[in-house]
Amino acid sequence: MRTSPAVICVTRALTIVRCADRLGVMNAFLSRLFLADFWKGLLLTFRTQNPKNVYTEQYPQERPMVAERYRGAPRLNMNPETGETLCISCNLCALACPENLIVVGWHRDDATRRKVLTTFTYDTSRCMFCGLCEDACPTDCLELTQDFEMASYTREGAIWDRHRLEEGPTPARYTR
Ligand code: SF4
Ligand code: SF4
Repeated sequence: MRTSPAVICVTRALTIVRCADRLGVMNAFLSRLFLADFWKGLLLTFRTQNPKNVYTEQYPQERPMVAERYRGAPRLNMNPETGETLCISCNLCALACPENLIVVGWHRDDATRRKVLTTFTYDTSRCMFCGLCEDACPTDCLELTQDFEMASYTREGAIWDRHRLEEGPTPARYTR
């Protein structure tokens, strides 16, 4: 019995499709074996980034530059000439704070009839560094500095007292 040309054509077509399938499977296997996607990704990365350039900040060996208007750790400023506090215990910073985290303690001096600052607490864990307290201060005593290292191991450590606020930030210097 003679096979018709139509049947021969269909058989050949099916053989070609099967070969193509096998080739595809082989390609996928080789591409996984030699991590083709990984090398493609690396190539893409190095096309846009010179490997000689270091983009990672080397903190804490190198301290990052913070923006000029950055608001960080609070400080109570002193009069540079007399060494006395600039705080007049007006309580405006505490009133301006939306978080109510500043507590100003004072007593009135009987002789001068002026308020005298006794305690000052500032809970840095609740502060959102909005700067409203700093803006409200009439004597530029309260300042939000550019220091950003305020981590502590306890919740109590986040509550800064007058002494710590007057001492100001003491950034750690790390060396290898
Ligand atoms: S920066 Fe804002 S949230 Fe923080 S103490 Fe000042 S007013 Fe309150
Ligand atoms: S606003 Fe300034 S002067 Fe008044 S209590 Fe606060 S820090 Fe002191």
